[in-house]
Amino acid sequence: MAEYKTAGVQDVLEEARTYIRNEDSLALISRAANYAAEAHAGQFRRSGEPYTVHLNNVAYILATLHVGPKTIAAGFLHDTIEDTGISRDQLAQLFDDEIADLVESVTKIGALRFKGKDDPEYQAANHRKIFIAMAKDVRVILIKLADRLHNMRTLEYQPEASQKRIAAETLDVYAPIAHRLGISAIKNELEDLSFYYLNRKEYYRIAHLVETRKAERDESVRKMISEISEMLEEHGISFRIFGRSKHLYSIYHKMVARNKRFEEILDLLAIRIVTQTELNCYEVLGYIHAKYKPIPGRLKDYIAVPKTNMYQSLHTTIIGEEGKIFEVQIRTEDMDAIAERGVAAHWRYKEGGNYDARAEQKEIEDKLSWFRDFAVFTNDSEEETASDYMAALQKDVFEANVYVMTPKGRVIGLPNGATPIDFAYRIHTDVGHTCVGALVNDAMVPLNTELHTGDVVSIRTLKGTGPSEDWLKFVKTSQAKNKIRAWFAKRETEKKESMAAQGEKILSDELRKRGFEPKDYMEKKKIESIMKEFSAKDYTDFMYGIGARLINPTAVCEKLTNQKRPVNDEEALTKLLNRDATKKHVQTKTGIVIPGIESMKLSLAQCCLPVYGDRIVGYVTKGEGVKVHRCECANVSGQNARLIDCHWEEEDRERQYDSDIVIISEDRNFLLTDIVNTVSQSRAPMLKVSASVNREDLTTTIKLKIQVRNVDQLEVLLANIRKVEGVISAVRVSH
Ligand code: MN
Repeated sequence: MAEYKTAGVQDVLEEARTYIRNEDSLALISRAANYAAEAHAGQFRRSGEPYTVHLNNVAYILATLHVGPKTIAAGFLHDTIEDTGISRDQLAQLFDDEIADLVESVTKIGALRFKGKDDPEYQAANHRKIFIAMAKDVRVILIKLADRLHNMRTLEYQPEASQKRIAAETLDVYAPIAHRLGISAIKNELEDLSFYYLNRKEYYRIAHLVETRKAERDESVRKMISEISEMLEEHGISFRIFGRSKHLYSIYHKMVARNKRFEEILDLLAIRIVTQTELNCYEVLGYIHAKYKPIPGRLKDYIAVPKTNMYQSLHTTIIGEEGKIFEVQIRTEDMDAIAERGVAAHWRYKEGGNYDARAEQKEIEDKLSWFRDFAVFTNDSEEETASDYMAALQKDVFEANVYVMTPKGRVIGLPNGATPIDFAYRIHTDVGHTCVGALVNDAMVPLNTELHTGDVVSIRTLKGTGPSEDWLKFVKTSQAKNKIRAWFAKRETEKKESMAAQGEKILSDELRKRGFEPKDYMEKKKIESIMKEFSAKDYTDFMYGIGARLINPTAVCEKLTNQKRPVNDEEALTKLLNRDATKKHVQTKTGIVIPGIESMKLSLAQCCLPVYGDRIVGYVTKGEGVKVHRCECANVSGQNARLIDCHWEEEDRERQYDSDIVIISEDRNFLLTDIVNTVSQSRAPMLKVSASVNREDLTTTIKLKIQVRNVDQLEVLLANIRKVEGVISAVRVSH
């Protein structure tokens, strides 16, 4: 296992002096050390050592992270509330509120019992606890990590059952948190210690494998280092270069998780070059690639695109002397500090400046993109109620246990089972509304695909499109649900308003047609005086009635103008529009009734192909009778003077209606077979099929003409098609 130093108070102060010069700050650290020693006097650890050994080492680990003096002080004091009966207020009086709050928060996390892995709520609950503490102050977590690290280093004194429990908790909760905060030095040590206690056999096996090849490997690395050093010196670049070894748990993890042989992992010899500026990094990379052959596809530029835990570096893999393969990491000193100490390095104590814990916390939230998710909800809350907000926060952030990424590397936490639609709404409301497709790890997927941690998700949008009501059936976040519902509610209102505007236009056209000036008759007062006779409750409702063809505009005109004076050039149309609505006749072929018309040439419009159950409207053609369209068909909008109302009569199970469907899918083998099967299972006769592949994005567009009995059967069929593997969308079309 990694060597570590057992530190005393003097070591803490020495380490602190490397970056803290202010004597008051150093005095504060000493005072906290002395106070803690007194408070814990007479207490011993299981190892038999005085309790202060633990406190000194926690404080020392914090000092090596270069945290501020108050955090080191809180490190000394971190167990006082729990183990010595000193209260938070006493600490506040003796030191200050900030230190007292830190100690109190650490105590609270210590009291948390993390649930066992068997508990389904396990991950969610653990993340939540840590996140709540972290959202308040990241320093609490740093102290907790230092505390846990020292406890793990001294775990041998615990009984075996406790060893296993504590090691498992460390591996499941604390190591991932350290990783997320970018503190790889602590993360790696926690992982190796946990590994040792959880699976000693494997630990020793891998340690042994590493050891047997060590001399040979060290020699190769040494040779390579001297070659590279010579080359870089010639170019006058200042640098540090050293070999590095992977920690045992990461070797084990790669062997198990990625199913690699030990040789495949260990054959990679690793070298790190630390230089001054970002430009130097690219220069060094250039020189190395000029001299050694790089393995294609292995260059990773984490300088241009940092990892989510702020990690920056250039990675390349080259073939060195004797065909040996080397992994080379190139970075600046600052990047190296961040790679080792993560958030702590970024947050390292800067003397002289105005130290503001809150400003620092804010800065960290800005730097750690996943942390920002906490803030997303407050920025993006248009007309949401507090309880909606709380429910969304609760469900979507604290219960998040799937972590996916945007292509730019921002991490988004989502609840289990979340889909690309949930992801889209988390990016932005408009991205959600206009989402038409999703790429997960560069492959097109259906929008109801379940996302998994580590997936890279990118959303395709199309301006002018809106959400589908189907989405409500599979989205998991309350945020997405609320936004989709709000969109439909808003559209309903807009529809009503636009229908009312249409009504106004119909009425003014009607008046003009009869030779009246609309302005003279359409005043609000005049309308209000007659609207009761048409059972409308207000002006808008009345106009909506006309727009929706519930109120006959001819009758309104007659009422408003007190005369019947049709001045129509199309007598037939007028007759039709003034028909006696009590008489009706069902057209057996289509099942449609136009009130007041006994016999009439009537057909279904080929552009939008209405099926039984659709909202429909009749259009009076010149010489071809009435064509029935779906209300939303673009071809009838604005044709108000020629539209007449019609509706479906009782359903005839034998009657079939044509419908055109367009399916967009990921291109794959047997796609068409699966879709044809799905259609025939729905007992919908198929009249026509065509498919074409779009080479650009590897999607397939399939056009189907089918027959259905009614709109319900059609909706079910569309839903089933959307479930076919690879299908991105399936919709009815109008031409
Ligand atoms: Mn402790």
